[in-house]
Amino acid sequence: MSTCDDLPEHLKTDQPCSFCGEKERAGIWFGHAEVHSCSACAITVLPRLIADATFKGYSGHADSETTLLSVEMEFWRAVAICKDRYADKHQK
Ligand SMILES: [Zn+2]
Repeated sequence: MSTCDDLPEHLKTDQPCSFCGEKERAGIWFGHAEVHSCSACAITVLPRLIADATFKGYSGHADSETTLLSVEMEFWRAVAICKDRYADKHQK
C-alpha cells in the first residue's frame, strides 16, 4: 500500500485510476500488477470488489459478516500505517 506522495520518483507517473480511468490516483497497490485508485473509487468500487471476491451465496450471510469484520480490521490497521508514515514524513 502506498500513496502517491510516498512513491519513489521512478513510479510517479500520470497513471490514472485503474477503475474509472479518469481521476488522478490517490493510492497504489503493488501486487502481481499495479492497481491505482482515486479516492472516489476506493470508497465505491473496492467494497464491491471485496463482496464479489468473497461472497459465498445466500447461505453464507454469517461468512459475509465475518469477512466485513476482517476487512474493517485491516482497514484500521492500514489507517494506522498511513498515520505513522505521515507522521514520519512530516517530522523530518
Ligand atoms: Zn477512480
